[in-house]
Order: sequence, then C-alpha cells, then structure tokens
Amino acid sequence: MDHFHIRDGVLHAEDLPLPAIAEAVGTPVYVYSRATLTRHARVFRDALGVLPDKRIAFAVKSNPNLAVLRVLAAEGYGADVVSVGEMERALAAGIPAEGIVFSGVGKTAAELARALEAGIGQFNLESEEEGLELAEIAVGLDKIAAVALRVNPDVDAGTHGKISTGKAENKFGVPFDRAAAIYARLASTPGLQVRGLAIHIGSQLSSLAPLEAAFTKIGGLMRAIRAGGHAVTHMDLGGGVGVPYKAGEVFPQPEDYAAMVARVTADWGVTLMFEPGRVITGNTGVLVTQVVRVKEGVGAPWVVVDAAMNDLVRPAMYDAWHDFEAVRPDGETFVANVVGPICESSDTFAMGRTIDRMKRGDLAVFRTAGAYGATMANTYNSRPLVPEVMVDGEKWAVVADRIEPATILAAERVPEWLA
Ligand SMILES: *Cc1c(COP(=O)(O)O)cnc(C)c1O
Repeated sequence: MDHFHIRDGVLHAEDLPLPAIAEAVGTPVYVYSRATLTRHARVFRDALGVLPDKRIAFAVKSNPNLAVLRVLAAEGYGADVVSVGEMERALAAGIPAEGIVFSGVGKTAAELARALEAGIGQFNLESEEEGLELAEIAVGLDKIAAVALRVNPDVDAGTHGKISTGKAENKFGVPFDRAAAIYARLASTPGLQVRGLAIHIGSQLSSLAPLEAAFTKIGGLMRAIRAGGHAVTHMDLGGGVGVPYKAGEVFPQPEDYAAMVARVTADWGVTLMFEPGRVITGNTGVLVTQVVRVKEGVGAPWVVVDAAMNDLVRPAMYDAWHDFEAVRPDGETFVANVVGPICESSDTFAMGRTIDRMKRGDLAVFRTAGAYGATMANTYNSRPLVPEVMVDGEKWAVVADRIEPATILAAERVPEWLA
C-alpha cells in the first residue's frame, strides 16, 4: 500500500499534487512519500514481532538518501552498509554505530579500520582472508571486531541473474562446504569475536521457498559448528523480499515471511538479524518525468520522456518493469514505446505497452522507484544528477539537489601540458 493516488483527476503524493513539485523543482525528479516509508518500516517490524530476539538493519544501498535514513533511524532501524560512504551516511542520520552491519565483498583495509574506529556492531565477512586481515587491524587498534561469516548456500533464488547472490558461481560468501573450518579458524584468531553466520541469496524474490531452503541449510551448518564446540549467537538472514512492480501482482507479505522464519528458526536460540532494502523503500517513491515529444515509428509511437537510464537504470540493467502512468490521466489509453533521450538502445522503459494517452508536455510517473532508483543514478550524456523530494502530508522539501552539469564540469581540469 502506498500514498500515491489520483485526487480530483491529478496524481498526488499524500496531500500534494505532483504538478506542484514538477513546477517548482523541474523534471525528472524522484518523489518519496514519508507516510509510505514509515508505514512499510512499521509493517515489516511489526510482522517480525512474532520472533523473540531480532534486529533489523536497513539495506542502505537500496535508498541511501539522508532524509530516508533519518525516518528509518526514528523507527529504530539499524543499517546494513556496503561501504564506508554508506556507513558515514547512516551515522549522520543518527543510526547508532552498534546498529550498523558492514557487508560487502571488497572492504578495503582503510574501510575496515574506519569502521572499527566508529565502533560498528558487526562485520559480515566474505572470506577467510578478509577475517584474518580484519583481525590484524583490530589487534593493531586494540579492538575486538564482532563478526559473522557470510556463507554461500548454493541456492537458486529464482530471481534475475544479475541480482542472484547465493549460487556457488556468485562471488559472495565462503563456500558452504568450507564454512565450518573457516569459522573454527577465525574463532581462534585474536582480535575477532566470531558470533554467527550470515546469508543473503538475492534480491526481488517473488517466492519464500528459496529463502526457506537457504535458512534451513544454514541452520544445519549452525548445528554442525556448535557440535564442533563453537558458539553461534547471531544469525543474519539478509534481505531479498520482493515487491510487486506491476499492478495486480501478488507477492509474499511480511507476515508470511515472518511466519516462515519463525517456523524454521524456532529452536535456534540466537539473535536473528535482517537486512531488508527494497521491501521498505520500493513503494515509497516515484520518478516524475515529462513527455518531451511523441515520435511516430514503424510500429507503435515512441513516447520520449525527459527521464533516462541514467536516472533510473533498472529497466536497462535488469530488464525491470516499472508501471508508467500519466499524472493527469484522461481515461484513454494507447499502445506505445517509452524511451529516454540517451544515445543507447537500452535507454528503453517499455515496448509495445498499453499506457495512458499522453502528448508532448504531459507529466507522468514511473512507479515503485524508491529502491535502487536515485541511488544508481549517474550523469551519463552530461545530464544533471536527478534530484529527490520528500513529501509529508502537504509539506515537501528537496532532500537532494539536482547537480547540474556545470558543477561536474567545474571539478574537471585540463592539465597544463595540454593547454
Ligand atoms: C542488497 C543487499 C540487501 C538488501 O536486498 P533487498 O533485496 O533490497 O532486500 C541485504 N543484504 C545484503 C548483504 C545486500 O547486498
């Protein structure tokens, strides 16, 4: 459920008509609904209420905007970060250091040291090598690093290949068969407090079955490690719960997910950790765009909009679908291709799709753009970096400026020897 709806014929974010934002800020622009964000944060947290001991670390990479993080900090969320840059954002938003989990396959020595100094709650190790390096840095800083070992369970998440992370051929985690031996080795390494296992098999999962298979498998590994005489007190179950991108699609609900977790982990006796991203932020945002022109084609007409793959890359990168709707729909539809202005054929949002009738100058939105949207934006084709707005009832604010090409140009230099 979200708070983007048609009122008096115009699409609103909460109580604010989207044309008001488009007029003030220009397009393209991401618009987030604070009420939707808060609602998703609470629904997920409340669903996990059936579990005795849990911590939720929001996957910052899905939407790292400072205002978004601030809302989630106020809801008691921790943060799952994959770089020191994300860690600094989480801290700046008021998320306590002990609520921060540091994931990621290539944490540098400098990043590990900075995170140790900040006092973050847990490092999710992606390899034995990383564990040994972290141990050395921790000893040098006279600190103990709390760690979990990320295991690759070799389970097919059944999602798009580019967002699958839990198959043996993916780069993430340590091989399942070697995990117990690595756990034992790291457990006896000074500087580390090895406390558990971590898993994250992929993103945008449409079924709970692969998650259940992975959790069951890692539960067995936990028992084997305990049988070997080592403590396991924390189990990090990652993120990955998907959201519907097409109107009418049915996805597992947070309560279904929580019930499955409760069943699988009933006798684990650990603190469970979760790293949801998309399920919290996906529906909280839309990308508002304006139709530049409608161009006749051999087949369906081309609706050329002022948003492009540099603003929203998911369709180009993951063949992802975003519902595309007029801000002032007149009830008529037509079949069209929706594309951006960038000089790449992959700058295509929809082909041969039945959409609201649109003409030059009309406003439209890409729905469900709150996760992996603005955060993946870039300035390809020397386009501006897309701005972000947050709405709260009738209030709204720009929460990330549009960064103009001139600002980026000003950071470039022609060396003297070329002048
Ligand atoms: C990306 C990521 C997440 C969040 O994934 P969602 O599909 O957005 O829930 C959680 N944990 C790790 C380690 C990740 O890389």
